[in-house]
Amino acid sequence: MSADRERAVVDRVPTCTFAGGTTFAVEDPSTGEVLCEVGDATAQDAVAALDAAHEHQAEWAATAPRVRGEILRRAFELMNERAADLALLMTLEMGKPVAESKAEVTYAAEFFRWFAEEAVRIAGRWSTNPSGDGRLLTMRQPVGPCLLITPWNFPMAMGTRKIGPAIAAGCTMIVKPAQLTPLSMLMLADILREAGLPDGVLNVVPTSKAGDVTGPLFADPRLRKVSFTGSTPVGKKLMEQASQHLLRVSMELGGNAPFLVFADADLDAAVDQAVVAKMRNMGESCVAANRFHVHESVADEFAARLAERMAAMKVGRGTEDGVDVGPLISADQRDIVRGLVDDAVSKGAKVLTGGEDVGDRGYFYAPTVLANVPPDAELLRTEIFGPVAPVATFADDDEAVRTANDSEFGLVAYVFTRDLKRALSVAEALEVGMLGLNRGMVSNPAAPFGGVKESGFGREGGVEGIDEYLAVKYVAVDL
Ligand code: NAD
Repeated sequence: MSADRERAVVDRVPTCTFAGGTTFAVEDPSTGEVLCEVGDATAQDAVAALDAAHEHQAEWAATAPRVRGEILRRAFELMNERAADLALLMTLEMGKPVAESKAEVTYAAEFFRWFAEEAVRIAGRWSTNPSGDGRLLTMRQPVGPCLLITPWNFPMAMGTRKIGPAIAAGCTMIVKPAQLTPLSMLMLADILREAGLPDGVLNVVPTSKAGDVTGPLFADPRLRKVSFTGSTPVGKKLMEQASQHLLRVSMELGGNAPFLVFADADLDAAVDQAVVAKMRNMGESCVAANRFHVHESVADEFAARLAERMAAMKVGRGTEDGVDVGPLISADQRDIVRGLVDDAVSKGAKVLTGGEDVGDRGYFYAPTVLANVPPDAELLRTEIFGPVAPVATFADDDEAVRTANDSEFGLVAYVFTRDLKRALSVAEALEVGMLGLNRGMVSNPAAPFGGVKESGFGREGGVEGIDEYLAVKYVAVDL
């Protein structure tokens, strides 16, 4: 990829200017170099964004659903037309290989196509009271101005999963992208403007002071909803703030996905899908397989084959051809990952491959497989967010389920077995919001994405996704 092309893609980002004129730097995690400066919103800028969202709410809610849907459809098309540039930009600010960024742009755009189709299907109901003497009417209306807060790991898709249904439902919004990766969101906002989204409906506030900037919004009764994707500790803090005015809340939080391989599993498929579930996004995903629990009769073979596959992956700058694994997002994130590996090794885990930093520029860490991981290793309990696969064993189905459920998180699990009865009874018993049955990827715009326990609540995507942005009103009718 030529440096000129990279520069041209970055230069096209509308980087925002706010009244105060201050900026913050966005870095390329593969080099540590600054890509560009972005306008740094203050609390006053955020309140101005809420002023705009509030001012335009009634008019936007009254805009025909077909018009709202067609704006989303046009944005879907523009994203696909520009996928190559959007993918390069995403790789530059976030690090993942360009092919993965391209897949994210496609996935992100699909939320716009899906919700373009949902915009015209917001129905209520009409029924006769059980006693027969009256009628019951329900209508579903936009909840009102929303605050949408997104993380750095999927800079575009975590936005479109919220923006798509908000637009379809007729809500205005303030979007606060992650400080580390605001560029993809700024390009997305520009595409929506080009697709015909009226001014004031979507207001992006990039900032280096997240808490200070969003705090006044939670205190303002004009805000009606917050949808947050990020870590569980920050989610808990925002829940407290949301209680001031009892906001509608959606929380997509952290995970600790167990990947269960039973003795009867197709081991080829399990290894293939383990690579997908672990290594997509360099492991920096809430649905990344975090811990591999494998039946003791096949654990050694599974770990050895997984290590062989992971050792063959090419680590490097995501813009280079043939790279499978980019850098981690920051030096801090790499320190966390390294610390978790060192802890497991000090407690007896065996390194089959990796276990070390790569290169002396950027934040690269080698794809790592650990075998014989003891139950007290910290990385079995903590979201790793890196390319590290710890393999532990179980003796029977009860132990597999008990160990998988022994976590405060409950986002997703992966189960590999050829026995239908076992598959369905394990699926029923696992405390998760999503489950991959003989597959390592669950994300799908047509499906309800979300968790239970401390992974949060609310669903994004599917027919359920738009409900997060609608309030039900019931009218008792006397005929
Ligand atoms: P994070 O919680 O640090 O930050 C997420 C967002 O919240 C960012 O925009 C950040 O600037 C903002 N933020 C941080 N502190 C804030 C505060 N006090 N007030 C308001 N906003 C604040 O998370 P992250 O490191 O960006 O993302 C990684 C986490 O996100 C992981 O735990 C991952 O599992 C989770 N995640 C969950 C899902 C899901 O759908 N469940 C998807 C992707 C990521």
